[in-house]
Amino acid sequence: MLKGLNIAIDGPAAAGKSTIAKITAEKLQYTYIDTGAMYRALTYKALEERIDISNGKALGELLAKTNLLLVPSKNGQAVLIDGKDVSEAIRTSEVTNAVSEVAAHQAVRTLMVEKQRQLGEGTGVVMDGRDIGTHVLPNADLKIFMTASVEERALRRYAENQTRGIDTPLAELQQEIRERDEADSNRKVSPLKQAEDAILLDTTSMTIEEVADEISRLAKERLER
Ligand code: C5P
Repeated sequence: MLKGLNIAIDGPAAAGKSTIAKITAEKLQYTYIDTGAMYRALTYKALEERIDISNGKALGELLAKTNLLLVPSKNGQAVLIDGKDVSEAIRTSEVTNAVSEVAAHQAVRTLMVEKQRQLGEGTGVVMDGRDIGTHVLPNADLKIFMTASVEERALRRYAENQTRGIDTPLAELQQEIRERDEADSNRKVSPLKQAEDAILLDTTSMTIEEVADEISRLAKERLER
């Protein structure tokens, strides 16, 4: 059997990476791994257990004793922590506002990256995040860096939130997105950055379908090489 491709999709917050990664993985029948959901899950657990999120060592220890699973579900992917489904709980603004600080710690990233590489081993994989092309899968067959204007990303997140019954004002979403990009781009360990060999895709004026088609086309090209 043909070994599947490794596809890395990175980019700033709310650029539509997960939506596109999910569609691409479905089309190609690959494993989809939402690495942001993994950092969010740890953040959720740390907040629940009142662990100081500025303490990297404590967070690393917490992660080491946590059973973190991504399982296919009818909505794409469910996130389980120690058997509990937290797929919705990890999307609250409380978690969103804390996740970048949690994800900046070396102790957290070392363990997360290990888990991510294991999850993607031996199969075709579509992984989305911030450091997939630069660090987690440096030899990925296809690397995409997906962006869109802050205004457009906030609008997309707003629409997505509406379907989830979350009512955060648009201006607040813009602010949250700006702050998270700033933190993720300026941290010391594996900052958000386009890999040298990544293809830049500005999706501001593209539909989901157009973006998904473009990535499928690029994947097909790689498969035929
Ligand atoms: O992708 P999502 O917005 O759910 O990611 C949440 C946060 O997790 C990001 O803002 C970033 O701080 C962190 N993250 C990361 N590295 C990844 C994926 C996510 O640092 N590969």
